[in-house]
Amino acid sequence: MAVPFRRTSKTKKRMRRTHLKKEAPVITKCPNCGAYIKPHRACTECGYYKGKEVLEIEKKDE
Ligand SMILES: [Zn+2]
Repeated sequence: MAVPFRRTSKTKKRMRRTHLKKEAPVITKCPNCGAYIKPHRACTECGYYKGKEVLEIEKKDE
C-alpha cells in the first residue's frame, strides 16, 4: 500500500480545508403569506407559487 512521503503540514491542511465550510441555507419570504420558504418552490404554508395556488393545503384545526 502506498504511504505518504511527507507529513501534511498544518498550513497545507488548513489551506485544503478552507473549502470545507457549510453554506448558510437560502431562504426567501412567501409574497402571499410571509412564511419563510425556499426559492423556486411552492410555498408549503399556503400552496402558492408565482401568484397562483398550485398546491392544496389541508388546514389543521388544533
Ligand atoms: Zn405562502
